[in-house]
Amino acid sequence: MKVFQLPKNPAALLFDMDSTLYTHDEYARSQIDLPVKKLAALRGKSFTEMQKLIKDYQDDWAAAHSGKGHLCPRISLGNTFKAFGVSIEESIQWREMLYEPERYLTRDSKLRETLMLLAVSYKLAVVTNNPVSVARRTLACLGIDDLIPLIVGLDTCRVSKPHEAPFRRAAELCGVPVRDCVSIGDRYEIDISLPLEMGMGGILVDGVEDVYSLPAALGM
Ligand SMILES: [Mg+2]
Repeated sequence: MKVFQLPKNPAALLFDMDSTLYTHDEYARSQIDLPVKKLAALRGKSFTEMQKLIKDYQDDWAAAHSGKGHLCPRISLGNTFKAFGVSIEESIQWREMLYEPERYLTRDSKLRETLMLLAVSYKLAVVTNNPVSVARRTLACLGIDDLIPLIVGLDTCRVSKPHEAPFRRAAELCGVPVRDCVSIGDRYEIDISLPLEMGMGGILVDGVEDVYSLPAALGM
């Protein structure tokens, strides 16, 4: 875990979902592979060909955006797909159709205990590039659906992180000023860099194991 900055009086914790509230490599992998397979089929290419096209695009994008104050520039899958002619609306539908959190994830009582403790002092929200319905199903699998009522998903603002809109919307829904929010996630460029620029706090985690230590990191 790396704490980049914390507000003087943090009031809301904005969690990324995938690889933050759970760690499951196979499920995380399926979230990239399944839409790439679908796109490959639509464009009449093999899965491997499409994987390479996407990797090349993301590498070129990173090279073009390096040296602009970012440690390691990355583009989200949603924004990558946009460049391949898949609208955000289509990305939302594909994810709702293809993703199966129920196949991979189970109840996490340690996470539940942690969030119950955090909920005493903070508003809790999820800000994800997945659609709200997929996020809701994911939280249900983990057994924490009742503890995080606020979800900002890809279909809330119809833009993909990193973009200010979903973070601002989450702060609004929490009823908390942006400067009192802390963004918590596993990808610096997607979850942390922009929130820090917006004046939020930021905590980079390696996975859910780090989330268990958040109460201590926040001095609770
Ligand atoms: Mg993530």
